[in-house]
Amino acid sequence: MDRREFFRRSAGKAARTVTEHVNNKVQQNAAHWIRPPFAIDELDFLLACTRCKACTEACSYNVIFPLPARRGVQVAATPVMDLLNRGCHLCEDWPCVQACDTGALKRPELEADEDSEAETQAVLWPKLARVTIDEKTCLPYAGPECGACRGSCPVPQALLWKSEKPTIDETVCTGCGLCREACIIEPKAIRVQSKYAGEQGIG
Ligand code: SF4
Ligand code: SF4
Repeated sequence: MDRREFFRRSAGKAARTVTEHVNNKVQQNAAHWIRPPFAIDELDFLLACTRCKACTEACSYNVIFPLPARRGVQVAATPVMDLLNRGCHLCEDWPCVQACDTGALKRPELEADEDSEAETQAVLWPKLARVTIDEKTCLPYAGPECGACRGSCPVPQALLWKSEKPTIDETVCTGCGLCREACIIEPKAIRVQSKYAGEQGIG
């Protein structure tokens, strides 16, 4: 290997290492919030989003808001969803996505020859967040009847009732949070977390 090739390879490797490090860091940060529907991967999102607020203004349910400056200059004013307080209605025509001219929010296209159920599901229903039921506080798990969240879910087969108790199929659930919005107890018995968060919750 000559010297030029050595430096070319080293530079390529160093650049890859730096990119991987930055990517890991932004993914960790992304565990603290939930991006609007069809947001591209966090690092690409931060590079594409111009903080124009068009998606925020397009949402008539006021689900989207800009991150405050205290979150850091890299993410300040980028759009996130307030799914702890209101659900996303998964609007049929996705006004928030349509309002985004930069591709930061971008609906994937279904390939003509693509018949995978998972791919079709990803085009129809974006994965927004992770939603789970807190069986310690959800009323039917303790005895009393409740059906407040029954019928709140727009996604077929995501919120299921077994023995008069609600359960969530996480493989189908989009994380829209409408069931949490419908929950009548405080604190809510339905948790909404960033899909990157594991058990950390939204910080
Ligand atoms: S899909 Fe509808 S409710 Fe959900 S964020 Fe977009 S505009 Fe708002
Ligand atoms: S419309 Fe697109 S570019 Fe504008 S703030 Fe929303 S995500 Fe960013």
